[in-house]
Amino acid sequence: MNPTDLAFDQRHIWHPYTSMTQPLPVYPVVAAAGCELELADGRRLVDGMSSWWAAIHGYNHPAINQAVGSQLLQMSHVMFGGITHPQAIALCRRLVAMTPAPLECVFLADSGSVAVEVAIKMALQYWQTRGEPRKRLLTLRQGYHGDTFGAMSVCDPHTSMHRLYQGYLPEHDFVAAPQCRFDEAWREEDIGELAARLAAGEPPAAVILEPIVQGAGGMRFYHPTYLRRVRELCDRHDTLLIADEIATGFGRTGKLFACGHAGIAPDIMCLGKALTGGYLTLSATLATREVADAISNGEAGCFMHGPTFMANPLACAAANASLALLEQGDWRAQVAAIEQQLRAGLLPLRAHPQVADARVLGAIGVIETRSPVNMAALQRFFVERGVWIRPFGRLIYLMPPYIIQPPQLALLMRALAASLDQPGHFAA
Ligand SMILES: *Cc1c(COP(=O)(O)O)cnc(C)c1O
Repeated sequence: MNPTDLAFDQRHIWHPYTSMTQPLPVYPVVAAAGCELELADGRRLVDGMSSWWAAIHGYNHPAINQAVGSQLLQMSHVMFGGITHPQAIALCRRLVAMTPAPLECVFLADSGSVAVEVAIKMALQYWQTRGEPRKRLLTLRQGYHGDTFGAMSVCDPHTSMHRLYQGYLPEHDFVAAPQCRFDEAWREEDIGELAARLAAGEPPAAVILEPIVQGAGGMRFYHPTYLRRVRELCDRHDTLLIADEIATGFGRTGKLFACGHAGIAPDIMCLGKALTGGYLTLSATLATREVADAISNGEAGCFMHGPTFMANPLACAAANASLALLEQGDWRAQVAAIEQQLRAGLLPLRAHPQVADARVLGAIGVIETRSPVNMAALQRFFVERGVWIRPFGRLIYLMPPYIIQPPQLALLMRALAASLDQPGHFAA
């Protein structure tokens, strides 16, 4: 790549959570196929990130390429107000069929954060039309739900941006994150604070949480019984449950949806990220008939939301092709094999002096380090080793495409293990 292009990038282009004045290095990628990213200088990197949970079938997949290509020749976009189209209908049929039974009304939007905004607005409108308006949500610390205002307001108040936007953000109620790990014996006291909060005081419009895996807020895996108890408590105290499955959906945790670990159905479910196999931005918020009916019978007479690019046909075509691949069912064996290999490779690293914890669930492997990582140094080390791993804070984690081959995953884990031995990779 022309050095002036990179200089332009540094000078003029924001990257996620990156300074404009002291930008971290970026690596130019010119192509991607299967489980590999190709850099401008020809080097190939094995991808351990699936482009943030999204590219579950790998890059440049022939079936998804074909679906998007033929949709492009039909029509790339058409407004969704007063119009429908076959890709949207096929996609919503699939989503209704594959999600837990009571979820049957689908709202398509542009990104995960917007799906969360939609879910929150649905909950608020639901209580308004039932004649008992409720303003507050109840959620867990160490959660992550996106970067728009509504979504941000239910992210962890310490690790996220609450302080920066204080006075501007809606205020909600938080309880401690679940402490009982996914594979530990269940301890009933873990649900105590949430139970007490729901039993006393003003009832929330909804409890919103990430089921089983708290992702960007710390990559924590909590006990399925916690989620079952939350469902029971929401029923007992007549409040809605919003499950944010944007990261966990579509097989990543070993179940099609993480709610499946607990055998529960939420009242509202948010989907995104892997929905299009990582091709295009698209999200879906599914609600029960009861929620949809209540909203529609209210004063407004409808749900008050309608993005310009709602149900974009190209994105729906990619999603249909990606979900068709999931429906073939190979993901189960693929995710199980990845889980086994991750356990064998990562759990022994618990003995390493730099490692505070190692944990694996489905196709997610996490190393929590004792000191924060030096992102730039670690990133350079990984690229030199031929892998793409993007750590943050005290977390180095792998969530590769489901099609990754054992030697590729072995390469990722060798690089990860080797990175722990270099003191310069970590804050002193
Ligand atoms: C990524 C993520 C979001 C936000 O999705 P965007 O598409 O980045 O807006 C919301 N919730 C969870 C759990 C996520 O992981």
